[in-house]
Amino acid sequence: MASSVQADCSSSDVGVLRQMILSSSNIVGFTGAGISTECGVPDFRSPGSPWMVNKPISYSAFRASPAMRIEAWRRKFIMDDHYRNALPGRGHKAIKALIASSRMSVVITQNIDNLHQLSGVTEDKIIELHGNGSYATCLDCAWRYELEPVRERFEATGCAPDCERCGGPIKSATISFGQAMPELKMQRAVEAARCADLFISIGSSLVVYPAAHLPALAKESGAVLVIINAEPTPCDVHADMVIRSDIGSILQAVTAEFI
Ligand code: NAD
Ligand code: ZN
Repeated sequence: MASSVQADCSSSDVGVLRQMILSSSNIVGFTGAGISTECGVPDFRSPGSPWMVNKPISYSAFRASPAMRIEAWRRKFIMDDHYRNALPGRGHKAIKALIASSRMSVVITQNIDNLHQLSGVTEDKIIELHGNGSYATCLDCAWRYELEPVRERFEATGCAPDCERCGGPIKSATISFGQAMPELKMQRAVEAARCADLFISIGSSLVVYPAAHLPALAKESGAVLVIINAEPTPCDVHADMVIRSDIGSILQAVTAEFI
């Protein structure tokens, strides 16, 4: 969790951002791990992050090594025990309200925590760039598996489960380091960024590419760019407005009249 986040947000930031929202007709939201810290899901780069404890297992290592697959599932289920009961926070609810009011057309997310869906945003309004950790898929035939039976098989056999249809490896439906980005989703995200008149980046350090290219692309394409993040990002120089307050506090205040 970011330690330097200010719980308060300035009323002038709230007023300016609300005005920007009211004068926009195609807002695109772009979220990172910072929107979920108030829900108890730690972000990636803040001090003490549990995601940094172990060296990530790359896609090629997962593919190549049964031992790495076992280790990946072991870590996955430990993390699930901590975070699977997380509920949407004020930031997710604000985005839900903006989408429900048709002011925001879509939310592009780097998150894998399923919290935009749990807040009530429908799948067609969410573009997940890094997948979703609430289910698994076969890497060869793409068949979907729910995590509970996968976990039962893993715990009963001690082996990483293979697909019952084709024998391929089953993996959490997230994008690992070295794994190809989902091409169609990336295309949709690029299109959304190009068409936005207001692009709001929320809770991302903006260092994971190609996703981190989207705010600058939106700006180049004519959008007003707002960045809400506790810490500076490499993209701040391109932004029309940078807000360094707590995400939940600012978004709740800004959208109070829409909820
Ligand atoms: P990141 O950890 O690199 O950056 C998060 C940023 O949010 C930080 O700069 C931090 O200062 C800021 N932040 C945290 N809490 C905040 C708050 N309450 N208010 C304001 N700012 C706050 O995350 P990223 O840019 O999304 O990149 C991390 C990668 O790791 C992504 O690809 C993502 O898929 C993955 N990840 C996802 C989750 C999740 O799904 N919740 C969690 C950890 C990592
Ligand atoms: Zn299969």
